[in-house]
Amino acid sequence: DYGNAPEAAGDALAWIVDQGSRFGHFVGGSYQAPGETFETRNPATGEVLAEVTQGSVEDVAAAVKAARRAQADWEGLGGKGRARYLYALARLVQKHARLFAVLETLDNGKPIRESRDIDVPLVARHFYHHAGLAQLLEAEHPGRRAWGVCGQIVPWNFPLLMLAWKVAPALAAGNTVVLKPAEWTSLTALLFADICRQAGLPKGVVNIVTGDGATGAALVEAEVDKVAFTGSTEVGRKIRAATAGRGLGLTLELGGKSPYVVFEDADLDSAVEGLVDAIWFNGGQVCCAGSRLLVQEGVAEAFHAKLRARMDKLRVGDPLDKSVDVGAIVDPEQLSRIRALVDSNAAGETYRAACTIPKGCFYPPTLVAGLTPSDALMQEEIFGPVLVSTTFRTPAEAVALANDTRYGLAASVWSENLNTCLDIAPKLAAGVVWINGSNMFDAAAPFGGVRESGFGREGGPEGLDAYLRPEHAGKALKRIAP
Ligand code: NAD
Repeated sequence: DYGNAPEAAGDALAWIVDQGSRFGHFVGGSYQAPGETFETRNPATGEVLAEVTQGSVEDVAAAVKAARRAQADWEGLGGKGRARYLYALARLVQKHARLFAVLETLDNGKPIRESRDIDVPLVARHFYHHAGLAQLLEAEHPGRRAWGVCGQIVPWNFPLLMLAWKVAPALAAGNTVVLKPAEWTSLTALLFADICRQAGLPKGVVNIVTGDGATGAALVEAEVDKVAFTGSTEVGRKIRAATAGRGLGLTLELGGKSPYVVFEDADLDSAVEGLVDAIWFNGGQVCCAGSRLLVQEGVAEAFHAKLRARMDKLRVGDPLDKSVDVGAIVDPEQLSRIRALVDSNAAGETYRAACTIPKGCFYPPTLVAGLTPSDALMQEEIFGPVLVSTTFRTPAEAVALANDTRYGLAASVWSENLNTCLDIAPKLAAGVVWINGSNMFDAAAPFGGVRESGFGREGGPEGLDAYLRPEHAGKALKRIAP
């Protein structure tokens, strides 16, 4: 039972207090004394939850050193040996699921229903899945070995889930890691550190260094063998430049402006429900959010009417309330970004959901209809609960509009005619295409983008492969040479 606010917050707040409400980094198997700290707040109430240490270049270097020291033995355990630890981590995530879910909701502002039913179960699933893959590693990836030490940087929208996407495959493949959570949402990563201790994970295999972008930049510059980053395209570009020519492994999972294409023969009610999930899941703070609605002209009016009626029924409010659909925006800074983008737009027709919106860090579910493809709102990633829309006439026009973006992360196609779906899907420039669905994820399915949405895949066999490199690449090249 997750209870309702405020009781539900009790255990998570007690855990923070038990830790002294001030956190140091987790390096070499233990929490360090806090250094210079910054506050992390509950965006729904504005209350300070804890203080977290701002990682320095020296802190990062110490963590990388601890990871380096642990790496050979960790890889030497072999896939089956490492799998035992990954299973233990998965079980401990499940055992502490309630604590993880409530802490995530407090720190990020996402509805408890999502952290409880989506984030945390998927985290456990990632560790179970990669435990299985680790057991098969030597058989299925002969001649491949770990990169070594991985520097991993994650964003604030799925703090724990993005950690799992990075840590589980890295560990399965025999790497050790230094992970930096986003500055607004460090707490579940620090709780995960505690789980690593409980699992008896060898010291130095997982290290958590907290801090802002400067700490992230220090991690990219450190003596790591691979960098894995999820975040904005702008920072991804900097990381690509900073790692160029250093012979490092690199995976970039970046932004998106994913099209949601509704044909006139779609089941419109299902398409409306799918759209609620596509753009109002996690308040639209989702890299692959279906944030650009393209609807066929003949049904545009009817579809928008159904959509507006459904928007009015969304419940926006206290993220710890189990009946809430849309929670708080992660931080007042992000709220101002969303406001500024929407307010600067003069085109189209803006519709705000008629539901009650609490005061504070909340933004109403919003639809901006009747835009043209070149309008800024059609092109810029808003990363909030704002859907933009335009219409199309023919399938060819739908494809052209869908691909009229610098991004290419995901796409949704809605039609009751499977021929239409199967014809359109391969023409879309996107790493993932969902047919009559949206936001479906699984540890066994690779996820990632094309164009400015990044490269490399996370999840599935491809995701594991990104944490492996050829064992004797240099020697093999010599043998081939005449
Ligand atoms: P962000 O790029 O500002 O920050 C992401 C992380 O990078 C944070 O931990 C931050 O501290 C760190 N960082 C910032 N500057 C850095 C630098 N110069 N060097 C190294 N690290 C640095 O992004 P954000 O605002 O936290 O997250 C939102 C973005 O993430 C959106 O664009 C979203 O689409 C994207 N995202 C993508 C995926 C995906 O899988 N493709 C998933 C989630 C989010």
